Amino acid sequence: MYQLHSLEQSLKQFFGYDKFREGQKEIIEQALQNRDLLIIMPTGGGKSLCFQLPALLKSGITIVISPLIALMQDQVDTLTDNGIGATFINSTLEPEEIYRRESAILNNKIKLLYLAPERLMSERFTSFLDNLINQVGVSAFAIDEAHCISEWGHDFRPEYRRIKELRQRYPQIPISALTATATKRVQHDIITQLQLREPAIHISSFNRPNLYYEVREKNRHSYNQLLKEIRLEKGAGIIYCMSRKSVDNLALRLQNDGIKALPYHAGLSDQERINNQNSFIRDDIQVMVATVAFGMGINKPDVRFVFHYDLPKNIESYYQESGRAGRDSEPSKCVVFFSLSDVSKINFIISQKENQDEQRIAKQQLEKIIEYSEGTECRRKIQLSYFGERFKGNCANCDNCLNPLITEDWTTEAKKFLSCVARVNQRFGMMHIIDILRGAKNQKIEKNGHHLLSTYGIGKDKSIDQWKNLSRALLHQGLMNETTDGYRILKLNKLSWEVFRDERSVIIPIKKQDIKQILGEYNERQAEAALLLDRLKQLRKYIADANNIAPYVVFQDNTLNLFALLRPQNIKEFSEISGVNSHKASQYGDIFVSEIRAFCQQQELPIALPSDSQMVTLQFYQQGLNIAEIAEKRGLTMGTIAYHLSELILMNQPVNINDFVSETKQKEILKMINKLGDYSLKTLRENLGEDYSYDELKLVRAWRQKQNR
Ligand code: ADP
Ligand code: ZN
Repeated sequence: MYQLHSLEQSLKQFFGYDKFREGQKEIIEQALQNRDLLIIMPTGGGKSLCFQLPALLKSGITIVISPLIALMQDQVDTLTDNGIGATFINSTLEPEEIYRRESAILNNKIKLLYLAPERLMSERFTSFLDNLINQVGVSAFAIDEAHCISEWGHDFRPEYRRIKELRQRYPQIPISALTATATKRVQHDIITQLQLREPAIHISSFNRPNLYYEVREKNRHSYNQLLKEIRLEKGAGIIYCMSRKSVDNLALRLQNDGIKALPYHAGLSDQERINNQNSFIRDDIQVMVATVAFGMGINKPDVRFVFHYDLPKNIESYYQESGRAGRDSEPSKCVVFFSLSDVSKINFIISQKENQDEQRIAKQQLEKIIEYSEGTECRRKIQLSYFGERFKGNCANCDNCLNPLITEDWTTEAKKFLSCVARVNQRFGMMHIIDILRGAKNQKIEKNGHHLLSTYGIGKDKSIDQWKNLSRALLHQGLMNETTDGYRILKLNKLSWEVFRDERSVIIPIKKQDIKQILGEYNERQAEAALLLDRLKQLRKYIADANNIAPYVVFQDNTLNLFALLRPQNIKEFSEISGVNSHKASQYGDIFVSEIRAFCQQQELPIALPSDSQMVTLQFYQQGLNIAEIAEKRGLTMGTIAYHLSELILMNQPVNINDFVSETKQKEILKMINKLGDYSLKTLRENLGEDYSYDELKLVRAWRQKQNR
């Protein structure tokens, strides 16, 4: 069947995309030839398509083994919303529901079945599988997160070991194994454990070009920076902290500053964790403040930023954690807040470890992450080198490449600093040394008689920050040491003496101006697109809540961006946009196009006016038709008509709320809005109950917003 169309045509037909990403086409061709495959791509690389498209083109059903229940639900939602027959079976379902799904599968209604590994090989399931193979046929097994099979991976799951029984029992069915974990050891394990036969192996680059990397000094201004950044970002983000306590504190502080943030860590109950995670996925909140317990199996493609408010454990985990940003390939931001005092905290924890080997490894990993944080080279290059990948040149998307450092010779100042360390008998920390150099007057100095030292006040010409910068560079370059007992006392070493003896010069980096800010231009078209994007996001959220799915299941950010930039004016233009297939066009085309047209009309006219489509709805309303009747007449859904009416209300058109919602209900809804705010219709509905429809909520909300203007 697949020869009739080119693979590109099928890609557009089923998924709405125009082009394959690197590697995808070749993989799909090999899958269609029934080869075994090992596919290694970074998060967001587009692995799923590599088994989903072949599943649709081959006869029979493809069985996907996936370890994470939340992820299963998500993939099935996304496929179903594209009009593709997909379902899952796992322990969250009642036996009757499982039975119902199994019948649908045997009736050939399904192309992709997602399955938890623990279900495999139960007697009941194998007999079902035998039936399935006889009646419908199984085109392939796809093993997602295949690294879970290896004890050397970061997420070993014993139940994955049973997958090899599939190969033994059904040797004729091809297997695709997929993972984002790169080490050779794990790759080898996957191949042998699954008994793959001459697999075609695909390893993509681990570079994530859309991620911007930055490291910032963590200081007392950091919280304000963070807050400003979050307000500016608008999109969703994750902030990682080291401990449960700091998660709770930061989440609370952000909430108090008006950010929709929630905490996530192992100390919360299962239910709280699930609720908070769902609020994040559904865009009911903007920010998840979390320990590293959060993120595995979160498929949210539109995470716009990942901040590490505390230092990550090592480079590998930093790559995974920051990698949760921008799976949809849109520009996203990854920032580490780095402080030397975090380093000494971690150092102290490490020094408490009993096992010498563990201690050594932890030390090494810490050193690498410090190297990354203090490095002046391209951040991308440093990260990729851990995966044995070479990245050359300027990436133009990290702080170091955008603001190249200039260096200066600070040998004279270094000598002043080091000799001051010597004069206080190597018994004080950085701030005290700087105070002496700058001639500060304080108790500590006077009590120790340090105002009498020859180095007192010889460094007044440099600011505190400049001295700090030097001190850090001396530590980083190994020209001076610091104790790791938590006191951070400065000590001289062999190299310090080389500096004294003029055998070594001290070159330190000085930050240059932010080039990105100078280049960052702002034009009117972009500003308008941003306005429209905001409205389209609201519309998407409304549709998602009404259908009880995540907003990105409706359309992903990159597709919305294209809507905002290209402004499709009719269904045909709409369906041509990447991310829209015919199913989505018929489901959502009208409502989005009318929103876009409304926006365009308003841009041309000083006052907001209804779009043509909204005007037609208004006319029917004025003839006395109710929502169901207008929908029927116009061949649109009731949801679309209700949306038109609520927009008409906002635009001061003659639409009366009493025609749609009873006064008692209006009162109840208003009470609830006053209590909970009006940003989430879903939350309102959950609290009001099933008697209240989304349409009613939407209309009353618009009514209230109009009164408040
Ligand atoms: P992975 O499983 O490798 O982390 P996914 O399969 O979830 O990645 O894909 C990441 C994102 O890229 C998804 O939002 C997906 O819809 C999108 N995507 C995949 N292939 C393409 C393509 N050819 N064109 C555009 N977007 C794509
Ligand atoms: Zn770079």
